[in-house]
Amino acid sequence: MTDKFMLGAQDILLVIDIQNDFCPGGSLAVPRGDEVVPLINGLASKFSHVVLTQDWHPRGHLSFASSHPGKKPYQTIEVAYGTQVLWPDHCVQGTEGAAFREDLAVPHAELVLRKGYQREIDSYSAFYENDRKTHTGLAGYLRERDFRRVFLAGLAFDFCVRYSAEDAYREGFQAIVIEDACQGIDAMAPWRPRVSCSGPWASAAFPETRSKPGRPRREVAHRFKSFRKSTSDRVLITSSAVSQPRDSDIDLGQGTSEKIRYH
Ligand SMILES: [Zn+2]
Repeated sequence: MTDKFMLGAQDILLVIDIQNDFCPGGSLAVPRGDEVVPLINGLASKFSHVVLTQDWHPRGHLSFASSHPGKKPYQTIEVAYGTQVLWPDHCVQGTEGAAFREDLAVPHAELVLRKGYQREIDSYSAFYENDRKTHTGLAGYLRERDFRRVFLAGLAFDFCVRYSAEDAYREGFQAIVIEDACQGIDAMAPWRPRVSCSGPWASAAFPETRSKPGRPRREVAHRFKSFRKSTSDRVLITSSAVSQPRDSDIDLGQGTSEKIRYH
C-alpha cells in the first residue's frame, strides 16, 4: 500500500546545486545531471517552502587542481581539515558555470544558500563546510523557521546531497532523499573523498568503499536503498514516482513550467 507523504508547513525541500557546471556541458558535469531538472521543478511545486543551494567559489579556490602546481583534477591533497579531492575549476562566482540552470523553475524558493565561498575550505554539505565544524547557517535558519523535515534533491547524489542529508539528521531534522530527483557522479570516480561521516549510524548507512572506475551509479543507489529500512529514522531514501509505489512515495503530479533566472 502506498503511504504518500502528507506535506505540511514544517516540510522544506532542499534543492542542491542545480548549476550549469554540474550539468552536461559544464566543467564538472554530473552525467545526465540536467535530466532531473523537470522532475525537481514538479517536485518543488508540491512544497510551500524550498531552499536552493549554490556552489560559489572564488577564483583560485583551494579545491581547484589549477590552484596547486603539478596537480591534476581528481588527485587528492592533504589540507588542514583532511583529504581534499581536487576538482576542475567550477562554479566560479559570477560566471555562467555558477549560474542555476536556466530551466530550473522554482520561483517560490525562499533562500539561496551559497557555499564554498571561503578560499581555503571546500563545502560539500549545505550545513557544514568540509572541516565539519564551520556552520553555513542553514541549520539555524531552518530551526528558527520551525522546519522539521528536510527533503533533498539535486546534484550530486553521492556528494553534496549525501553529506547534506547526513548533516540534516545530525542537526536534528528528519532527512528524506528523493532518489530519482538526484544524479550521482560515482560512475566516473576512481576515488572517493574521506570526509568523515557524522553520527554512529553513518558508517553503516553510508559505507565508505573505494569505488572502481565504471561502477554504475545504481550500485551506489542500491547501497542507499539497502539501508532504507534501518535508517528510516535517520536518512530515508524514497522516490517521487507514483508509477512505482513504495512505502513512502510522494505524489509528484504536474509541476509549473515558469522559467526564472536567479542572477
Ligand atoms: Zn565546488
